[in-house]
Amino acid sequence: MKKLTELTFDNTYARLPEAFYRRVKPTSVPAPYLVSFNAAAAELLDLDGSEARRPEFVEYFCGNRLLPGADPIAALYAGHQFGSWVPQLGDGRAILLGEVRNGKGERWDLQLKGAGPTPFSRGFDGRAVLRSCVREYLCGEAMHNLGIRSTRALSIVGSNLPVQRERAETAAVLLRMAPTHVRFGTFEVFVNRGQIENVKALADYVIAQFFLEVADEKNKYAAFLREVVRRTAVMIAQWQAFGFAHGVMNTDNMSILGITIDYGPFGFMDDYDPDFIPNHSDHSGRYAFNQQPHVGLWNLSCLAHALLSLVSEEEAFAALDSYEADFNDAYELLMRAKLGLAESEADDHALLKELLDALAANAVDYTNFFRRLNSFSSAPDDHNDLLRDMFLDPASFDSWATKYRARLRLELSVDHERESRMKRVNPKYVLRNYMAQKATADATEKRDYTEIDRLLALLSRPFDEQPECDLYAASSPDWGKRLVVSCSS
Ligand code: AMP
Ligand code: MG
Repeated sequence: MKKLTELTFDNTYARLPEAFYRRVKPTSVPAPYLVSFNAAAAELLDLDGSEARRPEFVEYFCGNRLLPGADPIAALYAGHQFGSWVPQLGDGRAILLGEVRNGKGERWDLQLKGAGPTPFSRGFDGRAVLRSCVREYLCGEAMHNLGIRSTRALSIVGSNLPVQRERAETAAVLLRMAPTHVRFGTFEVFVNRGQIENVKALADYVIAQFFLEVADEKNKYAAFLREVVRRTAVMIAQWQAFGFAHGVMNTDNMSILGITIDYGPFGFMDDYDPDFIPNHSDHSGRYAFNQQPHVGLWNLSCLAHALLSLVSEEEAFAALDSYEADFNDAYELLMRAKLGLAESEADDHALLKELLDALAANAVDYTNFFRRLNSFSSAPDDHNDLLRDMFLDPASFDSWATKYRARLRLELSVDHERESRMKRVNPKYVLRNYMAQKATADATEKRDYTEIDRLLALLSRPFDEQPECDLYAASSPDWGKRLVVSCSS
């Protein structure tokens, strides 16, 4: 285990052509203090967890001091935001300190979010508020532990520096980690500028670093695009299966690795509602929950377009054409597992559809329905009252349960065996909005960070029974369901 000053930096992105980024220094914040430290993320860096107790820790991870070996840069990118092309975005408030190599040979971007303006800030302040750092910090871990690849976060450092959003708030700096933060928009920006050589340089870099499986293919660029399509489809299938809505699926928020990045006004669904829009500012519902699979393909088509100097149109279309099957395969696999079905039958689709329609019509809590379904009794005289009582119209559950029971019988499903399988795919705990809200309110109003740490621990084991935390497994209180999450962060 290493000390802070012993981390091994290997800054590959900063060795790419100058056009890819601008060198930049973080701007200091006054009187930084540690809000939370994530030991699981420290392990990925081989960093000794006790280092978080050193006073220098906050200095390094708010940007007031630079770690030896860091070479801070802000990356250039562009993107389609809500369908409109924005020719230059870039890290406006994120600063890549550098990449740390661990003992397993993995490299992790250490990125400060909210460490002050960069040449890409477009007049904004380069800051992040504590509220949004807490949400991103917790959600990255929640996703990772659900099995959805995501950015991780090492720490939140707070400061009393005032930051103006809809109201006055205070600043915080998040230390965010990913194998790379390259986005679809990183490719798009170079095409738009006519810098075809940079598109190739970026593709070569990303393939050599992260897509070794395609590096030896005859047409590695087509195979690369095909693989990004697959990974993106799988990620979005996971979002749909766990009831997660990202909120801002702009192409600058789509990772080239197919991992979930840039948590803003996201939300895990409470009551099942396919039209759920987590982002208060998304008036047209472009990024509503049920639009995500479609938007994923739309975004991939922007990426494919950006790669047309490297792949033929035919190859681009072929890669995009595989999206639907990739998505459906992954989604069906996950939903079959959530239903506890070991085999695949022709009518499973209809069974699932009838269930989802009933959940929507009866405003049933999505996470809790599936968790309770784990202990569904297939005995013909058992009404499964715990499930039944979740429905405004219990008859709609009864009708579905009759078909489900018959379906279980078809594959000779044994209740307790199915239950132990389902427990590993139907989480008991997800990061509901009201939970993040409570942790944030304690932090901002009382400087009490215990709730953040409690949720971090809770969400590190979302599938396990944690009886002392049963309260968090209840459906959200009404005020929590009505919470408005704005884009400002
Ligand atoms: P986001 O919606 O957080 O993904 O941000 C979209 C773009 O706006 C990115 O290029 C960000 O870097 C930039 N941005 C968002 N908030 C700020 C801010 N407070 N200061 C500077 N740039 C920002
Ligand atoms: Mg973004």
